[in-house]
Amino acid sequence: MVLQDLGRKINAAVADLTRSPNLDEKAFEGMVKDICHALIEADVNVKLVATLRKSIKSSVNFSNLAPGVNKKRLIQKAVFDELVKLVDPHNEPYKPKKGKSNVIMFVGLQGAGKTTTCTKLARWYAARGFKACLVCADTFRAGAFDQLKQNATKAKIPYYGSLTQTDPVTVAREGVDKFKKERFEIIIVDTSGRHRQEKDLFDEMVQIQEAVRPDQTIMVMDGSIGQQAEAQSRAFKETADFGAIIITKTDGAAAGGGAISAVAATHTPIVFIGTGEHLLDLERFAPKQFISKLLGMGDMQGLVEHVQSLKLDQKDTMKHIAEGVFTVRDLRDQLSNIMKMGPLSKMAGMIPGLGNMMGGMDDEEGSLKLKRMIYICDSMTEKELDSNGLLFTEQPSRMTRIARGSGTSVREVEDLLTQHKVMANMAKKMKGGMANMQKAQGAM
Ligand code: GDP
Repeated sequence: MVLQDLGRKINAAVADLTRSPNLDEKAFEGMVKDICHALIEADVNVKLVATLRKSIKSSVNFSNLAPGVNKKRLIQKAVFDELVKLVDPHNEPYKPKKGKSNVIMFVGLQGAGKTTTCTKLARWYAARGFKACLVCADTFRAGAFDQLKQNATKAKIPYYGSLTQTDPVTVAREGVDKFKKERFEIIIVDTSGRHRQEKDLFDEMVQIQEAVRPDQTIMVMDGSIGQQAEAQSRAFKETADFGAIIITKTDGAAAGGGAISAVAATHTPIVFIGTGEHLLDLERFAPKQFISKLLGMGDMQGLVEHVQSLKLDQKDTMKHIAEGVFTVRDLRDQLSNIMKMGPLSKMAGMIPGLGNMMGGMDDEEGSLKLKRMIYICDSMTEKELDSNGLLFTEQPSRMTRIARGSGTSVREVEDLLTQHKVMANMAKKMKGGMANMQKAQGAM
């Protein structure tokens, strides 16, 4: 996971500095240099990196720091804020509304991940209570309709397409009309790609746009092209005036960070990012959450949303988080849900601190570690599970008993409790925020 490597490098640079005994200007310069180096390696544009460098330096301004100011916190905040700015498109995308037909048209080059992503997106909305469907207007690539059919069937999404009609404009119009009559709320139209940005493709895109009048046109772009993303999005923008971008393949791509920052620089909203080949590998893109996760600080909101979309039994934990509470039992339930939720490496990144703890482990090692954490919880009494964890500090002998009972070490029990503390603090901070989030989701 190359983006994770980038996060780890940045984190290490900040941690080295904040741990160093001489937190002086020279050490600070060294940290800024390391961060910039890591960003350039991830194919972020040199000019953007230079701007970030200047901004971090001026927001910390070592020579003029008031005495007593917490340098460590100041530096961490400056780095975080500047990284967020780097990936923030500063523009809000169109938000589909419930109770009306929202037509979303996909455009992009062949192989970018359009067909895969439109099914992922339809499923994403379906999981949030929208009536969603797919229209295959890709009559250019043989097998495109079959691929969409297969994906849609797997995701249980209704679809429309034709094996005999060769005019993509007709198929698009017929499909959209049919689904509008049937009161579908999210109608996603997949269009054909080409190998290159050629005139035929652009002409076709414009004709389909005129025929179906989409509420939103989304360009799907392969994240592995790195900073070339800027030129590609500009070329498309000149023809099909799309409102938002989805960047795919940010999981394997060395240049995922480059693509995201390049697109952000064009002020085009990035609505989602593709993080793998599986149907669930689609994440809503939000600059702050993205950077939090990149730096191993977790993405609790993303986790909550993801868990909600899976419709797992989460009532108690959700209620607790809304009240600012997070018990050891909540952690245990989350851990066992994670095991059900897809590739571990991805899920772990959403939990504050857990991504770092599992850093470098493959999915098998990670599962083993999670299982041991669950064994630990299973050796606890009901009272311990429903506690806020303080009783372990008051009576450390409890940890020895649990380690013995679960066949683990006291160190592992301590690690689990540290993990719990991080999450309980997050829950405290999220109090109230959850209720708002649920309200916002209902309104989407
Ligand atoms: P299209 O030609 O634009 O419709 O592209 P496809 O949807 O057929 O995707 C091309 C390839 O990219 C397929 O093998 C997909 O499984 C793969 N793909 C799409 N999105 C992602 C992603 O986010 N991560 C990874 N690793 N692969 C992806």
